[in-house]
Amino acid sequence: MIVVMESNATEEQISHMVERVESLGLRAHVIHGTERTVIAAIGDKREYTRESLKSGPGVADVVPILAPYKVASLEVKTHPTQLKVRDLVLGGGTVGIIAGPCSVESEEQIMKTAKAVKAAGATALRGGAFKPRTSPYSFQGLKEEGLKLLATAREETGLAVVTEVMAPDEVELVARYADVLQIGARNMQNYRLLEAVGKVDRAVLLKRGASATIDELLLAAEYVLNEGNANVALCERGIRTFETHTRFTLPLATVPYLQRKTHLPVVIDPSHGTGDRALVASMAKAAIAAGADGIMVEVHPDPETAMSDGYQTLDFDEFSSMMRDLARVAEAVDKKL
Ligand code: PEP
Ligand code: MN
Repeated sequence: MIVVMESNATEEQISHMVERVESLGLRAHVIHGTERTVIAAIGDKREYTRESLKSGPGVADVVPILAPYKVASLEVKTHPTQLKVRDLVLGGGTVGIIAGPCSVESEEQIMKTAKAVKAAGATALRGGAFKPRTSPYSFQGLKEEGLKLLATAREETGLAVVTEVMAPDEVELVARYADVLQIGARNMQNYRLLEAVGKVDRAVLLKRGASATIDELLLAAEYVLNEGNANVALCERGIRTFETHTRFTLPLATVPYLQRKTHLPVVIDPSHGTGDRALVASMAKAAIAAGADGIMVEVHPDPETAMSDGYQTLDFDEFSSMMRDLARVAEAVDKKL
């Protein structure tokens, strides 16, 4: 990183900062410019050193050269990661389709949905058993009962199961039934939870927090990777902006942007991203055109009666028709579903 000194920094302050850089285990290379002096701090210490150097005397700024995340970055692994769990493949020319209800509600609901989405070409079944609801009075999910229903649906269809885990002490329970542990937007910065899912042998789908920056998302992924779990995919699910015509604002530029920063697969969730059933298929198509490695959508036998998120949920016909379009878009960008 580069320590930029104030234009009026004294020689004393400059040599003090050289000593500070060296005491942090980095090499210091001083460059005297016409306007000001900068000190190149050479070595790989990232965030910790940046923060501590920033408060030094005569320092104007400390500019990082490397990304603050490491294992997630393309600097460390230059080839995109393909995530494979059962038939779900994210990346490497394949677009994985994760579909299912917002919440698991009953055996009939989840079995019908699993069969319908499988027949239409989905490779994973989603469904919340532990639901993070804004109100404590809303349906909170069937909990372990819901996990068991998901496992039964997997036995019947072979679909990989993606479901949310909300607390560190529930990771073991959810991992017993799930193939992919979903970290929800509200928990993206629950660092103990990220560490806990980093320690289990299950893939992780990490959703972006509604007000998290891309760097914060990547640093959250770094928590999981740093515990030794390399099977991580990122999910853009929309962010909160001043705009109110959609539930969230879905920035699709996240896809190519992330792909320049990280080797991890990138999934788009157009259901939560728009909060409007009528917009879901268009945004899914656009996401694949933009290079997404996966799509996650909410599907229900009868969205009108869904216990959560019905207004953004597709019925079986809408899902099948969207899938036919997605296959054509994928082909146009040299990918397959
Ligand atoms: C969900 O996938 O149903 C969900 C709760 O998503 P998010 O965490 O993105 O709000
Ligand atoms: Mn939902």
